[in-house]
Amino acid sequence: MSNEGNAKEKFITTIEKFIALSAVRLSDDVMARLEEMRKAEDTPLQKSLYDSYFKNFEMAIKLNRPCCQDTGLLQFYIKAGTAFPHLDITAESLTEAVRRATVSVPLRPNAVNYFDEKNTGDNVAERSPWIDWEIVPSSQDMEITVYFSGAGCSLPGQAKVFKPSDGLEAIIPFVTDAVCGLGINACPPLLVGIGLGHNIENAASLSKKACIRLLGTKHPHPKGAEMEERITSALNSFGIGAQGLRGNQIVMGVHIESSARHIATRACAVNLSCYTLRRGIIRFKSDLSYELPTYRGISL
Ligand code: SF4
Repeated sequence: MSNEGNAKEKFITTIEKFIALSAVRLSDDVMARLEEMRKAEDTPLQKSLYDSYFKNFEMAIKLNRPCCQDTGLLQFYIKAGTAFPHLDITAESLTEAVRRATVSVPLRPNAVNYFDEKNTGDNVAERSPWIDWEIVPSSQDMEITVYFSGAGCSLPGQAKVFKPSDGLEAIIPFVTDAVCGLGINACPPLLVGIGLGHNIENAASLSKKACIRLLGTKHPHPKGAEMEERITSALNSFGIGAQGLRGNQIVMGVHIESSARHIATRACAVNLSCYTLRRGIIRFKSDLSYELPTYRGISL
């Protein structure tokens, strides 16, 4: 095999193993937050639910199986250095890695082509896996975030364009309705991603970027950070806990990502992730060596 062929095979197999890791094991920040939440619970019902969650995580690792049967559709969020030497083969390598991982992990085949209404059987279909690109100037590296987009947490997604006169406060009931409506079925505790911008698609895109942001981080603007805290407190005051049953913690976090709005619009989108927030990050160097910042002490 040529050097180019060797590099491509190495890239594909590394991504395939990374997909497997992220399907089986939650990232360090997610596990740490769930541990905190488990300790904060004081009712037998909620304690037993968290115990079952952690038993599930333990068994997933022991048996090397996905920690939820709905392994979703795969989405990749890429920060691509302009000098990363494997840019040309990145999309095809991700696609092939998904195809292989569907068999080797295994992942549930979830991808249905919209108009054919047929499951392709390998999670590769029209614009699936979904790939989102950000270009990083003067860098030889590539950072890839994988996200497993399950159905339970995708169904409650909402987006709306408000009038500026509705005020920033208008997003609060919009978000709480989304979370306390279909969100209850999405296996709480939830990570709530809110995108604020000028139109539907930019708000929706930001809401998913909010979902993949590391837990423990805040919106950089003080008012954005304050709104994250206010919505977290409001949602956690509703008396709903793990699995949508009685409790005090329906959310593990509320993240807002924002962009400028048009003078005459105020767009908001909500995206949720369930307690099995399967989001992992891998960083490649130009020689395809890698690090796993969300999985300390683990190698592929
Ligand atoms: S909501 Fe999440 S944990 Fe529940 S079944 Fe769907 S993917 Fe699994």
